[in-house]
Amino acid sequence: MWLKFGVSRSGELVSVDEVGRGKTRLSCLYCGGPLTARKGTVKEHHFAHSGQTCQPVVQRIKTKAFPSLPLYDNFLIQLKGEELERLKVLWRQYGLQQRPIPKDLIEFRWVLKGLMQTERNFSQFTNLGRIPVGALPLGRFNQVQEPRLLEELDKLERSANVAIAAGLSNAEERRADLEIYRVQFRRILLNSLYFLEVRASGQLFHKVGITTRPIEQRIKEVERDMRSHFVQVEVNLLGLWQHRGNVELYFKHRYQRFNFLIGSLTEYFLFPNVDKVLQDLNKMEIKVLSEIENSLLLDKI
Ligand SMILES: [Zn+2]
Repeated sequence: MWLKFGVSRSGELVSVDEVGRGKTRLSCLYCGGPLTARKGTVKEHHFAHSGQTCQPVVQRIKTKAFPSLPLYDNFLIQLKGEELERLKVLWRQYGLQQRPIPKDLIEFRWVLKGLMQTERNFSQFTNLGRIPVGALPLGRFNQVQEPRLLEELDKLERSANVAIAAGLSNAEERRADLEIYRVQFRRILLNSLYFLEVRASGQLFHKVGITTRPIEQRIKEVERDMRSHFVQVEVNLLGLWQHRGNVELYFKHRYQRFNFLIGSLTEYFLFPNVDKVLQDLNKMEIKVLSEIENSLLLDKI
């Protein structure tokens, strides 16, 4: 895990995705030192200190403890490779058919982590346990993720407040943690999720993505991208969900096997039955912002 945000001179947090590679005019939230954007092809894009990396950042990189949104880009697949494979097999053999799983086939660890629940001699997948295998419908994914997003915010806020009130030496660090979390939370609320149908020279693709801009603008860009690969291109909007930036990556995880690469474009899919996917999307409840979420949106961090 890396440092992904820097502070601009006017005090705004800027993501590494918003800047070009190389030296920037941004500084580190934790120490104020100047930052360089590392945007290579191997490691995830991140900010490095132009000089020496400060201790708080070294520590967070080491312990993977940068604040991040729960279940946003990590779907509990930090399970060891084989473990995840076993979980997938169990899902196909039992979960999918709603058959109870014999207790001796599961690891007690999975129960502890909340991925499975046991009753007498049988176990079954919980909603949380369906996430690593991509089996939880999008609407239910939101129901599992939303309270966790708020809990984590609450935890970081308390931790910062306690440190500030007690005058602890790490108060500034905790405040920086909180800001990094808030800016990520705010971003998923600011974004709308869109789902497009793309007809390109007789082929039918679908595309998922998020945007904060008017969807017409985004569609024009998609048309332009596709024209560099196909002669005839027609793009139709199938759905737009406000404040649902949280869903994009889970959608990609859930429908990974239908992902279809067009050149270097990675957000396209070839679905055998798109109606099922649309149903999944349309079953998501309309996002109603809570008071806390509203204040996050209005906030200029
Ligand atoms: Zn620093």
